[in-house]
Amino acid sequence: MHLKSLTVKGFKSFASATTLRLEPGITCVVGPNGSGKSNVVDAISWVLGEQGAKALRGGKMEDVIFAGTAGRAPLGRAEVTLTIDNTDGALPIDYTEVSITRRMFRSGESEYEINGNQCRLLDIQELLSDSGIGREMHVIVGQGRLDGVLHARPEDRRSFVEEAAGVLKHRKRKEKAIRKLEAMQANLNRLGDLTTELR
Ligand code: ATP
Repeated sequence: MHLKSLTVKGFKSFASATTLRLEPGITCVVGPNGSGKSNVVDAISWVLGEQGAKALRGGKMEDVIFAGTAGRAPLGRAEVTLTIDNTDGALPIDYTEVSITRRMFRSGESEYEINGNQCRLLDIQELLSDSGIGREMHVIVGQGRLDGVLHARPEDRRSFVEEAAGVLKHRKRKEKAIRKLEAMQANLNRLGDLTTELR
């Protein structure tokens, strides 16, 4: 599985539809300060379901919509499509290519699509949940975050690694299962007491 292309339209500094084709391996985006390199990364976070405006370096979510420049009027909507090569079947869907689209209007209304079919954000989150590229997977490390990771306490650093490796999800499930077992044991004990009383 690899990211194949990213199309942005009306998103931050990208007023016109712009497509970046990504090949397997390392892709570098270079350009002068303020030319929109980080906006490309923000577009990837956003289309994958990012809900926090701060994580996208804005004050409110509407800030992702092209706000206009001296020579160009503001736009009414932002749209990003991320196409993922799924020939290895890493994503649990019967398509060798998967396109995820997110669209947002100034009214605040959002739309999501998988391969052109309208869906819920939850469907996208579920599709990506075991792929390692979903939201909160620490796949995108922003400027300054690396410093934070390097200077984090060992136990915090361990949780970054566990989350990236997909272990955290299983640890949380295990903790939930243990809590359920404990509640079940308490019920069994209570049942035992009642049986003794009734004898
Ligand atoms: P640096 O190298 O300094 O980190 P960069 O290439 O990563 O810069 P970005 O931070 O991606 O640059 O882009 C910043 C530019 O995006 C600014 O010029 C800003 O005005 C523009 N921008 C951000 N949001 C919007 C928006 N909603 N509408 C129009 N332009 C926007």
